[in-house]
Amino acid sequence: MAYMLESVQKLINQLSKLPGVGIKTAQRLAFFILGMEEGEAKELGETIYLTRKKIRYCNICGNISEGEACPLCLDPKRDSATICVVRDARDVMAMEKIREYRGLYHVLHGTISPMDGIGPDDIRIKELIERVKNGIAEVIMATNPDVEGEATAIYISKLLKPLGVKVTRIAHGVPIGGDIEYIDEVTLMKAMEGRREL
Ligand code: ZN
Repeated sequence: MAYMLESVQKLINQLSKLPGVGIKTAQRLAFFILGMEEGEAKELGETIYLTRKKIRYCNICGNISEGEACPLCLDPKRDSATICVVRDARDVMAMEKIREYRGLYHVLHGTISPMDGIGPDDIRIKELIERVKNGIAEVIMATNPDVEGEATAIYISKLLKPLGVKVTRIAHGVPIGGDIEYIDEVTLMKAMEGRREL
């Protein structure tokens, strides 16, 4: 870039760290922010900081939470004998949108991917095993239907089976290589209904 004020350049650099934001988009966003009322910009900045500061991961399921346990884990109306295993917290939001599932969740924070150097110990599998030992009837593997998601589902099911728990996999109305987060609600609902035992 030929000429840019240092402060503005810093803002562009920060914005370009966001996923899907290239340098052109970062510039556009930066100039949009520069055109905002001072109060609005302050609110945006403070919201980002304060939200990040407030949010942690639930000690039980790994979902995003404001306290030690998330509202889903604390809800007595949820079926505490069923756990739906997903890759990340965004997938919990996707599942909750279909309003069909009433059990609990377990967020792995990743999937096994030897290519990226992510092994079973790098995701929250140990924590899942511990939870299942405490009276869980069914574990639904809802990892993405891609290579890593399938491998992770199979790996976990082999660990869980000896514990006497039913392990199911969501059906493939979910397209192979698809992303749970972006699947429409009807397809996701069908996938949950058509889950099969692993
Ligand atoms: Zn939780």
